[in-house]
Amino acid sequence: MNYMDNIITLKGIGDKTAKLFYKLNIYTLHDLLYHFPRDYEVYDTPVNLAIAPLDVPVTLRLTVTGNFVWKKIRSLTIGSGFAQDDTGKVSIVFFNVPYMKNIIKAGETYLMRGKLKKENNHWKLEHPKIFSEEEYSQKTGTMQPCYSLTAGLTNNTVIKAIRQAISAICEEEYLPAELIEKYQLVSRSCAIRDMHFPSDYEHMLLARRRLVFDEFFTFIISLRKLKEYNEDAVSSYPMIETAETLRLIESLPYKLTDAQMRVYHEVTDDLTSGKCMNRLIQGDVGSGKTILAFLALLTAITNGYQSALMAPTEILATQHYEQLCMITAKYKLPFKPVLLTGSVSTANKKKIYTEIEAGTYNVIIGTHALIQENVIYNDLALVVTDEQHRFGVMQREIFSKKGDKAHVLVMSATPIPRTLAIILYGDLNISVVDELPANRLPIKNCVVGTDYRKKAYGFIMSEVAKGHQVYIICPMVEESELSGGLENVIDYTDKLKATLPESVRISYLHGKMRPAEKNRIMTAFSDRDIDILVSTTVIEVGINVPNATVMMVENAERFGLAQLHQLRGRIGRGDAQSYCIFVSGTDNTKSMDRLKILNHSNDGFYIAQEDLKMRGPGDLFGIRQSGDMNFKLADIYYDSKLLQEISQSVDDVLKEDRELCTSKYSGLKVHLEQNTVNFIDFKSI
Ligand code: ADP
Ligand code: MG
Repeated sequence: MNYMDNIITLKGIGDKTAKLFYKLNIYTLHDLLYHFPRDYEVYDTPVNLAIAPLDVPVTLRLTVTGNFVWKKIRSLTIGSGFAQDDTGKVSIVFFNVPYMKNIIKAGETYLMRGKLKKENNHWKLEHPKIFSEEEYSQKTGTMQPCYSLTAGLTNNTVIKAIRQAISAICEEEYLPAELIEKYQLVSRSCAIRDMHFPSDYEHMLLARRRLVFDEFFTFIISLRKLKEYNEDAVSSYPMIETAETLRLIESLPYKLTDAQMRVYHEVTDDLTSGKCMNRLIQGDVGSGKTILAFLALLTAITNGYQSALMAPTEILATQHYEQLCMITAKYKLPFKPVLLTGSVSTANKKKIYTEIEAGTYNVIIGTHALIQENVIYNDLALVVTDEQHRFGVMQREIFSKKGDKAHVLVMSATPIPRTLAIILYGDLNISVVDELPANRLPIKNCVVGTDYRKKAYGFIMSEVAKGHQVYIICPMVEESELSGGLENVIDYTDKLKATLPESVRISYLHGKMRPAEKNRIMTAFSDRDIDILVSTTVIEVGINVPNATVMMVENAERFGLAQLHQLRGRIGRGDAQSYCIFVSGTDNTKSMDRLKILNHSNDGFYIAQEDLKMRGPGDLFGIRQSGDMNFKLADIYYDSKLLQEISQSVDDVLKEDRELCTSKYSGLKVHLEQNTVNFIDFKSI
């Protein structure tokens, strides 16, 4: 079998199952092997209720004390009852497993595995897995992979498919022996196997290290090549600084900060230098990057060219579009903008494509839709990507190629120190907006338990009365067997509406809504037609509603701290005092202490690092602070030390053999040809 074979070639995978895999973007055996577990389950020895730890998976040996009661609520079947051991009694709830009715019997003893909770001094076990003594003893002590799934696809089906693929495919080593030796790396085939089916934790860590090594190594070597290729390229779109930009800066209702001014000049110098710009603007949330993008777009269009701005979400793209339209009208700017996103109707898209090609618009704002093949631009001289960390290098490069090598400006709020930025954005020049606008007051934070909710609502009401707005973040969209008792947007909104006075305007937002609906809600929130927005983390990136002064995060313990830091960046964007309330769904002191890190620091990198320290290596999965840079396994925070070492190694390799033509690098060269971003022509180096 071959890497690129379709998964349908595997035994036991027919059309129907294959389609489920496709939903997860798994098409080939290669995709399958790189679909790594999102977690592992370790089946440890059963414990007594009295000594069982809370909020982590445990196994209990319990006897069911009576018949279960089964109810249907909306589409959900819920079964509840009690069970006990010698040390106590626990209430048990099942969601959506009607067949359990016939399995679970009063008086019988089972091994039940799940997360134990304690509420009002009563133990509660939600949706446990049930095992017989024999089934359990087979699993004891092993690490079972848990995969991301989709409805209809079971973990077992994925495990079987991966086992087959592993035995069918032989991974060849491509790294030179020297590097393997120096970094004490395990072989690639061993790494793939142990990542899926580790015999123990140590082996999993070694496997992960090897795979992270490969990810970083390939990435960095590609960047070095890209830099060589882009450096000093003469631009097809020479520009001059125009009076329009200076006029706009003069007319803004605020004065640009010194940092913004400095970066404005750096960008303008690039654009007018005659060479191709390749620049990153790095600046914490709220530092005012958008206006810098607008100024660059303005320079491009007043020089008679087209320009484009890409954002990772439709909500953000729409917001940028609306803001640009607003300043265009207000300051009589020469922008002729258009919005192009995935949800534009096909007929409309066609029309927009024609108009873009004809040059009817001079600035095109949108999502990934901007880099689709069918979009043909007209003298596209400048491409700007907002929240670049959400895109890959490849997308950035494709975007630039939409012009005749357009000037590239990317923006990111990922909080990383300069040393790391230089590595991760190795092919770009970096500008830093290291100053917040002067009118900002630091956000006041608190970490509380759920019993504080009532007080919090009181506080929220007082802010709403002042005309301010509020975000409430829940980790889940709706109640389901997978939601594990976490707060969900739909039910939370209902509960909130029942609790607060009718005059308070409450709406919700989540990623599963239709794009047009999402935009409608977001616009209504921006227009102050909604007081409280209950939302998932879809609002995490870029959204700017300066009138929002409170953010309350439910089940805050479920988020990485770096993500919480990004989230709270949605408030504190105006001149009013803002407040962030992190509600912990557990009294576990460790999770409370972890959240409290957010109280005393506003430095995103420090926060991410502290988070990792506190969680310890046992929580490796689920610690990913961010999906930044599109790495599959590597985490730029957790693996920052390895990243720096690899960067040095790449330099050493290229210094020794820039063309990778000696025999020891032949495997590497082939690997790069096949696996790196295909715009870099490794064949020709
Ligand atoms: P980010 O860097 O997170 O993208 P934005 O560009 O969205 O931040 O800016 C956040 C808010 O700050 C916006 O409402 C913007 O109008 C405002 N802003 C930008 N620059 C300044 C400034 N120099 N003084 C005051 N407010 C500013
Ligand atoms: Mg922004």
